[in-house]
Formats: sequence, C-alpha cells, structure tokens
Amino acid sequence: MSQNLKTGLIELTSHLIQIPSVNPPGYTVNIAGFIRDWLGERGFKSEFREYAKDKPNVIARVGRGKPVLILNGHMDVVPPGDDSRWVYPPFSGKIVEGRIYGRGATDMKGGLAVIMMVFTELAPLIERQGSGTLIFSATADEETGGHPGVEALVRDGVLVGDAAIVAEPSGSSRYYIGEKGLCQVKLVTRGRPAHGSLPILGENAIMKLAAAIARAEELINEFNKGIKLPSELTEAIRNSAEVYLEAARASGLNLTLSDFERVVGTVSFNPGVVRGGSKINMVPDYAELELDMRVPPGVSPSQVINHLRSGLSGIADVEVLDTSEPNYTSPGEVIVRIIHEGIERVLGATPRPIIVTGATDGRYLRARGIPTVVYGPGELALAHAYNEYVTVDDLVRTHDVMLYAIRRFFGIPA
Ligand SMILES: [Zn+2]
Repeated sequence: MSQNLKTGLIELTSHLIQIPSVNPPGYTVNIAGFIRDWLGERGFKSEFREYAKDKPNVIARVGRGKPVLILNGHMDVVPPGDDSRWVYPPFSGKIVEGRIYGRGATDMKGGLAVIMMVFTELAPLIERQGSGTLIFSATADEETGGHPGVEALVRDGVLVGDAAIVAEPSGSSRYYIGEKGLCQVKLVTRGRPAHGSLPILGENAIMKLAAAIARAEELINEFNKGIKLPSELTEAIRNSAEVYLEAARASGLNLTLSDFERVVGTVSFNPGVVRGGSKINMVPDYAELELDMRVPPGVSPSQVINHLRSGLSGIADVEVLDTSEPNYTSPGEVIVRIIHEGIERVLGATPRPIIVTGATDGRYLRARGIPTVVYGPGELALAHAYNEYVTVDDLVRTHDVMLYAIRRFFGIPA
C-alpha cells in the first residue's frame, strides 16, 4: 500500500471516529452525510435509504451485471460509558504510536474506513472490466439488532448479491464463517400466597423456580449430549475455542480448550435475570427467570424450546422472549476461499476461520442465502471496551487482503 493511501486510511478512520454515532439513539444523519460527501468528492454517487427516522443507510454501487459482491459495515457505535476512564477522549480519534483511539475504532469505524478505501480503489477497475457489480453499504442500527439497517435492506432487495464481506473486527489473520443463534426464554413459576410466618399454608413460587432452574440446566446438558455439529465446521469450532481460550488466559482465568469447545459447540446456559416475591413476610406466588442460551450451527432454537417445555411441564412455563437461527457459510464457498487465500498469500499468515458466539448483521445476508464472510480490522476483545483502538497495521493488512480477494472475485489481474 502506498504511503499516500496509508495516510488517507489513517485519517479517514480517525475522522469517522470523530463523528459520534452512538446507539442508542443510533442516529446516522451526520456520519452518513460525511460518507456520501467523501464518496462524492471521489466521483461516486451514493443514495440514502432510510427505514427509521434519522437513521439513513448509505448505498453506492459500481459496475453492472453478475457477479454481485456486497461490502458492508455499520456506522453506529455503543455508548462510551464513563468518559473519565478513557485515556484519550472517546471521540478524539487520537493517533498515537500506530494506534487510533476512540469509541468505534475497532467496532467498526476502522472496518468502515477499509471498505470505503477499497471501494474507491477498485471501482474504476470494475467499471472497466464490464461484468460484475460491487455494492458498498454503510448501515444503521447494528448494535440494536440491525432492523432498519441490513435487515430492511435485504428485505427490500437492495442488499442482494452472490457474496458479501462484512468488515466487523475479526483481526487480520482470522475470519468469521458463522455465528451462534439466540434462544432467550422466560421460565415462570406460580404458587399460593400465605403469611411468611406460616409458609406451610402457601406454595412458594421462588422455591419452585429454584428447582426449575436446576432442572433446566440438566435438560440442556442432556440436550447437548445429542448435538451433531456440521462436520465442515470442526476446524472453525476448534479455532474459536483457541481464540477464546487465549483471551481468557490473558485475563488470568484458568480454563481449558475443551471448556471453550463446549461453549462454542453446544447450547450455553446463562440465567441472566431473576424476579419474584413482593415482601419478605409473604409466601411468593410468582417468580420468573430470564434465561439466555446461544445455540450452535446445526441446532434450531425451537428444538431447545421444545425440549425445555416437555422437561419442565408441570414445573414451570416456558415463554419465548427472542430467538434467531444460528448460521454459517460453508468453508468451500468462493468468498471464504479467496479471503483465506488472501491471508496466506498477502500476509504470509495462517488463516483461521472462526465461529463467533454473538451475532452480526451477517445473519440477515446468510438468511437470504448470500455466502458471507466477516473480515475486518480490530480485535473482538476491544469492541465495546474502554480505550478502544485499532492498529494502523491491522487497517493496512485487512485492506490489502480485501483488495486481493475482491480482485480475485471479479477476475481482475493484479
Ligand atoms: Zn460491530
């Protein structure tokens, strides 16, 4: 990468950080305006697509016909939290010793800057090539579910293509091919109220809930024994376990590789919120638990819910709060293979495909049948953290790999 391009990429990342796009509320008018102007100054027309007030998405496209490749990044960031815990103010975009600091540096203004650069660099070549379309999309609301962002754009037929790269932070030698699904439920128990001094006259909903939680955990353990993961994901699950293990070791936790293989490859179990009772001297007649479970590829949330319902029948009611299907793109897909190859050839690094435990906007693209790889600068551990930063090295490395992969995708000679 030339020195000019590199300076441009650093400045662009810093500038994007300096435009706060905190979610909530997640307004993107300012940052979307900046991106439209930036593209416009370079000769590229873009359009706003707005599905929620003041949350425009920016779309630009070059070329014509198939194949169609989508580049995507979200513009919103999570709140900065306590300003005093930042060494540099969270929207300074301060550049210090090869790092660019600020809220969103890793998640994902760095990635957004990379796809903006890559789009403008390759657009003239794709136009000249005459076959194939490259779509750039900067989208809203990822941090709160992506409904007026990627979900709406996919539904509307704006983001439809043969492959997609989502530039969320994977780090330059890893890429994400899949993510776990969501299965959030509420367990509800009911009892009979009585005076707290005579508990034998009542039926205690909290005691029933405690038993239900223990039983639910057993049921999930039992369910997990029967899970068969797609065999083409074995390597990715092992890699993910290694990555999570490294992060856990770095923070001093004594866990093993098999602990993480289990948490990535099975249904996880986290009772998150418990409520019940109204007064210490009353036997409670109501209690509830909000339970967060993440399901691996190959398992559907509805299977987990059915298993819980039948095992808890007569003990607790199971109400569904939120679900989403786990999803992945086969390692054999072209878009996955060329990112993999780019990491090997351009960086000389060992590529590591990963399954993540959380969700990205990639799920909406995959649900539409679009092979999608998540690849971009930054480190997952820094996303949403204080003193979030992205390294210049990572920006440059992911930029170079993406340039290589997109050229290969369209058959443009280097
Ligand atoms: Zn993100």
